[in-house]
Amino acid sequence: MAEIVLRDLVKTYPGAAGPATDGVSLDVADGEFMVLLGPSGCGKTTLLRTVAGLELPDSGQIVIGDRDVTYLDPRRRNLSMVFQSYAVFPHKKVADNIGFGLRVHGMAADEIRRKVSWAAELLQLTDYLDRYPAKLSGGQRQRVAVARAIVMNPDVLLMDEPLSNLDALLRLSFRAELKKLVNELGTTTLYVTHDQLEALSLGDRVAVLRSGRIAQCGPPTEVYDQPADEFVGGFLGSPPMNFLRGVLVEDGDTLRLDVGSQSIGAPRELRPYLGQHIHLGIRPESMVAAEPGETKGTGVLRGTVQVVEPLGSSVLLTMDTAGQQLKVQAPAGFRVDPGSELALDLPVDTRRWYDPESQLLLE
Ligand code: ATP
Repeated sequence: MAEIVLRDLVKTYPGAAGPATDGVSLDVADGEFMVLLGPSGCGKTTLLRTVAGLELPDSGQIVIGDRDVTYLDPRRRNLSMVFQSYAVFPHKKVADNIGFGLRVHGMAADEIRRKVSWAAELLQLTDYLDRYPAKLSGGQRQRVAVARAIVMNPDVLLMDEPLSNLDALLRLSFRAELKKLVNELGTTTLYVTHDQLEALSLGDRVAVLRSGRIAQCGPPTEVYDQPADEFVGGFLGSPPMNFLRGVLVEDGDTLRLDVGSQSIGAPRELRPYLGQHIHLGIRPESMVAAEPGETKGTGVLRGTVQVVEPLGSSVLLTMDTAGQQLKVQAPAGFRVDPGSELALDLPVDTRRWYDPESQLLLE
């Protein structure tokens, strides 16, 4: 068993204004693929390096399996790390790079050969074992780094933006391969990225970090569909979640959000916020744009189209609704001209409600 348990980890660099890791607690199950996601400077790498033992926390605890490793030497934590820069030895052939750690551990040559060929097979490096890294592409070099990490049969695999130096196409194919590989190996993995698609694609769960704290941790669909706060809704999604500001009013025995001269139905659970400003969070792809001219029917909100951007697989509309800007993702082929008025259907089950002060999800 190699679950990771982090308890109240705090790490402040000397001379820094505030902590880089600010009281992080996180449980990663045995065999789970956990992604740490967040904007630059939110403390992802610091957290990963603390688990690796390359940084010592000011306080808190790190348990891997049944061992408290908080102050244990990194080499005795039985973990492997893959970095953004392909940290391979330039003067060693691929086979020697992959087998380096095994040799350091004093493993017999036969056994090393067997393991290296197993890892090379998994990473499609069999034909390159006799080459030097200078003769490899960036993608192949990163495969060597991953092979060198998994050949050690670590309890835990730590990866810090391993795909970010690869070009877009390669990143996409390697992402899928990495997912398959780690799934097959079943190694507990902690993976750092600032790329939301990578996080959503790879993670069994995604921990979204902000200013050294975990803003939300959950399965990808949960953090995407039910952002716990406006920061998470705004960070995930491209374009991000829309937030529409309005006042909650009573209409008979129902509640509505007043947005200028229009209004949208709101759930009765929001009654404590009657008369107050609240935010409606809605994803661009959740809104259904009616055909131009069709202003009645299911449309619950009207707006004026300002910008039309055909993006191939969809058409992105920038709309003005009662002085507020909305991004709407319409299906490919959707035809509308800037200046047109359009009705938007906001399906009830895709509406999320936020407190504008705390920015937290209200229900
Ligand atoms: P990025 O995606 O840009 O790598 P990150 O989310 O991984 O960012 P960290 O690298 O962990 O964030 O940095 C968190 C904070 O700690 C930042 O404010 C950063 O400037 C600071 N920091 C990181 N390393 C050091 C260091 N060695 N000394 C001082 N401050 C540091």
